[in-house]
Amino acid sequence: MPETYNKMMNRILLILLLIAGIQASSFAQDAYMNAEAAEKEKTYNGGSAYVVKNYPQKFKAKKPRNIILMIGDGMGVAQVFSGITANHGKLFLDNMKYIGFSKTQSASDYITDSAAGGTAISCGIKTYNGAIGVNTDTVAVKTILEDAETKGLATGLVSTSAITHATPASFIAHQKNRGMYEDIAADFLKTDIDVFIGGGMDHFTKREDGRNLVEELKEKDYRVETDINTISQVKNGKLAGLTSSMHNGRMSERGDILPRATETAINILDHNKKGFFLMVEGSQIDWGGHANSTIYIVEDMLDFDRAIGKALDFAAKDGETLVIVTADHETGGLSILGGDMNTGMVKGEYTTKDHSAVMVPVFAYGPGAEEFMGIMENTDLHKKMEKLLLGK
Ligand code: MG
Ligand code: ZN
Repeated sequence: MPETYNKMMNRILLILLLIAGIQASSFAQDAYMNAEAAEKEKTYNGGSAYVVKNYPQKFKAKKPRNIILMIGDGMGVAQVFSGITANHGKLFLDNMKYIGFSKTQSASDYITDSAAGGTAISCGIKTYNGAIGVNTDTVAVKTILEDAETKGLATGLVSTSAITHATPASFIAHQKNRGMYEDIAADFLKTDIDVFIGGGMDHFTKREDGRNLVEELKEKDYRVETDINTISQVKNGKLAGLTSSMHNGRMSERGDILPRATETAINILDHNKKGFFLMVEGSQIDWGGHANSTIYIVEDMLDFDRAIGKALDFAAKDGETLVIVTADHETGGLSILGGDMNTGMVKGEYTTKDHSAVMVPVFAYGPGAEEFMGIMENTDLHKKMEKLLLGK
């Protein structure tokens, strides 16, 4: 009896060990596969380059009538250089000859998030991480977009994330926390913004308060569209382009919606002879940094650069438009330890899966561009834009 019992126990123990062994080895294999996949994402293998135009450096006006502010979320100098290398040595961005650096620290943290970073640029105040258009006492502060509206200028927002996400939200909403997406969406209805194009449809229609903000937008004479092919045909009037239920996908999925939305927004806003303010965000450069994926960063950096090309096309012809390209912070602590200007190969290395504290570049083109040289605080961007566009 005890012998049979012992045999049985040994057999059970053996089975348990076998199961544990199989699980341990498959777990190890998973970890190995993930590490290998992650390692692969760190190298962009290169690809064909697109043609970059050269634009004139003389402008008919001394002060801008329009400002196009372009924010590459998480775009540090290394991200820019990954794009330069991937496009075989040249970007549209190269046309922007006035260059400075922005210090991104927030009121609460040495390392900012996109909410405090966006609010610093939109409102000119240092606030706490997570704040959307409010100060450290959670009091609403007017944004440059709202100030432009008050002065009768046309206004717009374009983003590859949800339009309610921290960066675009900072220019139009006032909420104590960036996660309050439905309240942020409702804030769009409190403004007279002319054009906004991005994801985030669910925050307008699938709401806890039961409101249907798409219907409310239509009552306010907005044309509401979801397909970029239809959106890009809109030439005037008010436009709400909600291109996805939440965030737009990666480049392979979303295609060239950012350059197309940028061009569409510019053409609509240009009808206002008093001028316009437009903010365009390349949102997912940041997500590539969080994922430590050089492939993701390069794809989104080049997409953002093609949107910059659309802005420069217009600014070069117009002569009264100032284009500013900057970032809210750097993401990933990216360094580039290998590459090839002929093939476009880029080998990235990362020091964090989060944001880093380093200064981010500021590039400017057009009348007033010389104001954006040197080292500045992120809040100075707001002051300079207000002074040039609104005479404040
Ligand atoms: Mg963002
Ligand atoms: Zn981020």
